[in-house]
Amino acid sequence: MTTELTHWIDGQHVKGTSGRFADVYNPATGEVQAKCPLASDEEMHAAVMSAKAAQPAWAAVNPQRRARVLMAFVQLLHRDMDKLAEALSREHGKTIPDAKGDVIRGLEVAEFCIGAPHLLKGEYTDGAGPGIDIYSMRQPIGVAAGITPFNFPAMIPMWKFCPAIVAGNAFILKPSERDPSVPLMLAELMKEAGLPDGILQVVNGDKGAVDAILDHEEIGAVGFVGSTPIAHYVYSRGTAAGKRVQCFGGAKNHMIIMPDADLDQAADALVGAGYGAAGERCMAISVAVPVGEATADALIEKLIPKIEALKVGPYTAGNDVDYGPVVTAAAREKILGLVDQGVKEGATLAVDGRDFKMQGYENGYFIGPCLFDNVTKDMEIYKQEIFGPVLSTVRAKTYEEALSLAMDHEMGNGVAMFTRDGDAARDFVSRINVGMVGVNVPIPVPLAYHTFGGWKKSVFGDLNQHGPDAFRFYTRTKTVTSRWPSGVKEGAEFVIPTMA
Ligand code: NAD
Repeated sequence: MTTELTHWIDGQHVKGTSGRFADVYNPATGEVQAKCPLASDEEMHAAVMSAKAAQPAWAAVNPQRRARVLMAFVQLLHRDMDKLAEALSREHGKTIPDAKGDVIRGLEVAEFCIGAPHLLKGEYTDGAGPGIDIYSMRQPIGVAAGITPFNFPAMIPMWKFCPAIVAGNAFILKPSERDPSVPLMLAELMKEAGLPDGILQVVNGDKGAVDAILDHEEIGAVGFVGSTPIAHYVYSRGTAAGKRVQCFGGAKNHMIIMPDADLDQAADALVGAGYGAAGERCMAISVAVPVGEATADALIEKLIPKIEALKVGPYTAGNDVDYGPVVTAAAREKILGLVDQGVKEGATLAVDGRDFKMQGYENGYFIGPCLFDNVTKDMEIYKQEIFGPVLSTVRAKTYEEALSLAMDHEMGNGVAMFTRDGDAARDFVSRINVGMVGVNVPIPVPLAYHTFGGWKKSVFGDLNQHGPDAFRFYTRTKTVTSRWPSGVKEGAEFVIPTMA
């Protein structure tokens, strides 16, 4: 039986009226388990207008009280952790422990945002001139929006709406239509935590809903996370409409393994970072770059048995599973197509997971782990983001060659180096043109109080996600210059005042 999902408008579930729906699958079985409504322009407009009406009263609530809503929200997330993780795994396919990680990485941003009263403080200069004080305030944008991807259906919506809302904005969340249930559950919990109706609206949809956000005059800021071509599109259309837009795109994260690295540690790190969540993470390592033939041979030898031993299965199999299916049949076909192309282009498929079948789940979107060796720069499997359980090995002769591989790739989300040499690590950290860098850490996702963002084609726009940057993105600065003279005695001034 399929469930008809809803939007969440003005504090309640509201059925879609457009007549358009997207199928939501259980990726482990291939069954359609729900229908996600796809909002029309009119539905989006109504949601935005009631958010706009609700926002001034919310902005007038003092920041400490706004933060208390998030304090309660954090407690509720803990209370409902199992329920959230189950719903997340059922639509996304990732394992239950990984789904809990997805919720917790969002929860940590909610915790950080509880510091909003401090983060929203402005600056003050006392006596900038005779009798003159200058101060700045951070004020909310009004109505902000977030458009989020399928791969972290709890974490990324929270990265967006927690800072935006605690800063005094109303927020329109347009989650991925592949796994929309958890975002709806998060909105229910925000209401239970005390958020007034209309401040968090979840409007489900596809390109139509995205365009309605980008064209809507009352939305001042848009945060997007997804693939690079859509990130570029959203950035171009949103900024052309005069909005503040930040778009985080795709990735191709390299891990350089130096000859002095602890190869057991590096191999374990590669297996976790390459195949966890079936490789469907923007911070997954998808390219291993061992330096020197001896390092490469030894690494491949260590990797093969570890990769062959990976346990693939449905989330319902519990702790026995390392990773689950990919999200849709289309994703599976695209990934397998790229693996075939890699073979045709001459890469060595050292572990071939293409024929993997899950007994009892023959219609699920499972792919066995694949490991490529001898990949070169001109191959499609190197150029494209595969976003599946496929790790490519590019052998580099020297450190400089390894570094320039990562630097020349058009993506720049994450990168890592494994070494015991502090000098090489310092050089790498200083020169690399990638936004998030790991030294002996394969997935260097910064914690909530730092900021998250890539460089190059992994981002369009300014400022990172979470951390202090989120408060800069979701607020505008107003700077006040004030003078309280005892009386205006000297008449008008016609020369621009300077402090010379
Ligand atoms: P996607 O680009 O297909 O979808 C992202 C959002 O855009 C969804 O809400 C979707 O409904 C909407 N969308 C899809 N097609 C659209 C179109 N033609 N016009 C307007 N809107 C459209 O991405 P996805 O497959 O959901 O997520 C995976 C991608 O996200 C990967 O490329 C991954 O690297 C990236 N990602 C990046 C980060 C980061 O912080 N850089 C984090 C997570 C995921």
